[in-house]
Amino acid sequence: MKGRKLLMIPGPIEFEPAVMQAVGMATTSHVAPDFIESFGHSLEMMREVWMAPSGQPFIMAGTGTLAMDMAGSNLVEPGDTALVVSTGYFGVRYAELLKRYGAEITLLTAPAGEVVSPQEIEAELKRRQYKVMTFTHVDTSTAVRVDPEPLGRLGEKYGVLTILDGVCSVAGEEIRQDEWKIDVVLTASQKAVGVPPGLALMVVSERAMQAWRERKSPAGSYYCDWSHWLPVMKAYEERRPAYFGTPAVNLVCGLEVSLGLILKEGMEERFRRHKRIGKMFRETMKSLELKMIPVSDDVSANTLSAILYPGGVKAADFMRSISTSDVILAGGLLPELKDKYFRVGHMGAVTAGDILVTAASVERALKECGYVTG
Ligand code: PMP
Repeated sequence: MKGRKLLMIPGPIEFEPAVMQAVGMATTSHVAPDFIESFGHSLEMMREVWMAPSGQPFIMAGTGTLAMDMAGSNLVEPGDTALVVSTGYFGVRYAELLKRYGAEITLLTAPAGEVVSPQEIEAELKRRQYKVMTFTHVDTSTAVRVDPEPLGRLGEKYGVLTILDGVCSVAGEEIRQDEWKIDVVLTASQKAVGVPPGLALMVVSERAMQAWRERKSPAGSYYCDWSHWLPVMKAYEERRPAYFGTPAVNLVCGLEVSLGLILKEGMEERFRRHKRIGKMFRETMKSLELKMIPVSDDVSANTLSAILYPGGVKAADFMRSISTSDVILAGGLLPELKDKYFRVGHMGAVTAGDILVTAASVERALKECGYVTG
């Protein structure tokens, strides 16, 4: 190893050296011309990465939860109806968050490892008129991947604003925001976007911006209110200085480099590479006769995997053994299954070599815990 361990958790991830170099440069003024250029250029590149040529991008200092908060607080008013489609921990978080802004929530929850079918969702949309619907592309607690396309189209058909939590998917899993008619696609920097933690990112459709303009009351969060931030985003894109809150200058410089690398790889190739890597990792786990939380390959994320401990292996023993290896992995997150599984992130700059090192470390740790295959 290179004097340090390989970070294979579902965010933060291993970052490209060029990104770290940009983040480590001397901090400049947030209204310096070269910084305005980096910010404006990043906004433009986000439209390409999100595949949302007509969308309004936002770059904020904050985490993925702030991105969820920004979409929620701007699009929901007290008494609005919200349908939350949950495939794990982060779906439940969205329901709690929207409740704070006075939404009447209906929660459709899939059993762990499964998705809520589009048919079930459509039946609910027929039953009641909703203002917004949220769904998680990849729930990081279960490694379940939802197909966002039919849900975006259902939102359009029933006049419901759709919010995709893409924190564990944007720039890894396939997303075509405009084509799939998804109103908000949000994420955070530390995952497949490939920048250290601290940026909340999203692209918003014109339909959602219009719904926000038609609000009867101001957004419930002072910090998140788009009336503060929209003029700043527009100014930076027009290469003019503007201020509401100080941007995370160094992280934005890293973002410009990372988005450039992502576009250089090309979105189609990036989606294909994540599919390849995801499948490769799942195959290595299957070869160790291990089972995953997602019930099938069709609903398995390509950005991370959630692997069940085989009989007899205890979470604490496995994590202790892994801590002496060359890789860093994550434990379980879903409260009801927390000690039954572990998680491996494989997104962004990940290579096939990283997958092999990780699989070998998992095999060794399981062996130390007494697990024998075959
Ligand atoms: N949604 C999903 C799907 C996530 O994976 C995460 C982070 N693991 C979040 C939301 C919240 O992001 P953050 O931790 O950056 O606030």
